[in-house]
Amino acid sequence: MRIAIAGLSHETHTFLPDKTGLPSFDEDAVRGQDIISTYRPTNSSIGGFIQVCEPAGVELVPIVYSAGGVAGTVKDEVYDKYVGEICAGLAAVADSIDAVLLSLHGAMVTESRQDTETHILKDVRKAVGYDIPIMVALDLHGNLDPAILTKATAIFGYQSSPHVDSGETGRRAARAMLDCLAGKTKPVTAMAKPGLVVPSLYSATTVSPGKDIIDRLRQWEGKPRVIDVSFFFGFAWSDVHQLGVSAVAVTDNAPELARVIVDDLAAFAWERRERLTHGPDLYSVEDGVALAIRKGRTAKKPICVLDHSDRLNDTTFVLHELLRQNAQDAAMPLLYDPEAARACLAAGQGNQVDVLAGGKSSPQAGGPVRLKGRVEWAGEKKYMGTGPMSYGKEQDLGLCAVVQAGGVWVQLVSHPTSLIDEDPITQFGRKTGDFKVIVSKSKTHFRAVYEKVAEEIITVDAPAYSPADLSVFDYKNVPRGVYPITRK
Ligand SMILES: [Zn+2]
Repeated sequence: MRIAIAGLSHETHTFLPDKTGLPSFDEDAVRGQDIISTYRPTNSSIGGFIQVCEPAGVELVPIVYSAGGVAGTVKDEVYDKYVGEICAGLAAVADSIDAVLLSLHGAMVTESRQDTETHILKDVRKAVGYDIPIMVALDLHGNLDPAILTKATAIFGYQSSPHVDSGETGRRAARAMLDCLAGKTKPVTAMAKPGLVVPSLYSATTVSPGKDIIDRLRQWEGKPRVIDVSFFFGFAWSDVHQLGVSAVAVTDNAPELARVIVDDLAAFAWERRERLTHGPDLYSVEDGVALAIRKGRTAKKPICVLDHSDRLNDTTFVLHELLRQNAQDAAMPLLYDPEAARACLAAGQGNQVDVLAGGKSSPQAGGPVRLKGRVEWAGEKKYMGTGPMSYGKEQDLGLCAVVQAGGVWVQLVSHPTSLIDEDPITQFGRKTGDFKVIVSKSKTHFRAVYEKVAEEIITVDAPAYSPADLSVFDYKNVPRGVYPITRK
């Protein structure tokens, strides 16, 4: 038995000013047998494929995999190169493979393709034909069009945000594939879209209402003839015709049952549309920071300030407010600013520095903040992740610096990423417990660790690129009536 594996992933924010080009994907690309050795031990969809297929005696045919991160619209040249490579690789082995497993995102947008994943599936079908099954693992934040189900045999989405189940999603797809190839099942699928857009902040599955949707999904999964159920929360900051949540069911040759399941989940989400789009306890930056400082004084564990609207990891609204309100024992990890990091390295570890940091990516980033203080650390930083989502994967922060500015510990990095585990603090010789206030620019992934590490999470809605309030964006491609989008 031979199964080809390949993938291409990007979460595309179409309102960001800059496009994503080849360098973001070329840096991450892995090809051929290197895919197996790189991803086998990881909590990723590709890792999950390998973890199920290898022990089952499947001969894997790895082609290419690259994830270009989370950024602006992807250039067509990326699609041409990587989908071209996937399809050429598949066409070369089409006569000798029994199936294809793909790892895609679901919210990738290129210059000329709104629904990129369906386009990928169409091109892959051209390469391998319709006689063999293709199954796809996708991110929970995919904006899916039902058309993808006319090309894919079955699709499987993460069921957790934080995405601690990426590996399990790959294993679900691979197990379903092996059952299908063994003739034990005949997968059929259905999708329902209730016309609802959820800002990522409210896609957390550890708290209501996201948790209630996943609980409901689990009840269906336990029923006879149900192979798998996914609920995609979508990715809100994307101006595409298929924007919004989707429920997907895979059953064993029971199309009516698949339809009943997806209609039930779509209705269940629609009933909760208010709480899925306008959550409670969202603070202004000024009020949220003041509350965190006050609570941090007596809390036994740090207070986590969630600055969820930052997409480029360099907005300074919260940092500015921490300094203005004279916060003590506060941490601002992973602020993206290679230029300021270089200035700190030049000043030298242990020396004083006076530098303008962060807020440089766009006018929406809040502008740089003046940091005056001692350089606690400066240099290149790379380590193996130890968090639930990052373990086994190399984390490269590039040139970094840590500045103790007043009561705020500010970490400057050269590769943009957000705080989802303790590594960015512990790898620099500190403990999360050293701080009264810790800022994260994650959306939901930080919850896997910080629901335990922090005494409380205080969410602020800064005026950056991904606010909870979607009314500030001018959506042109989204059909009328999709809640809560108001077309101008
Ligand atoms: Zn996601």
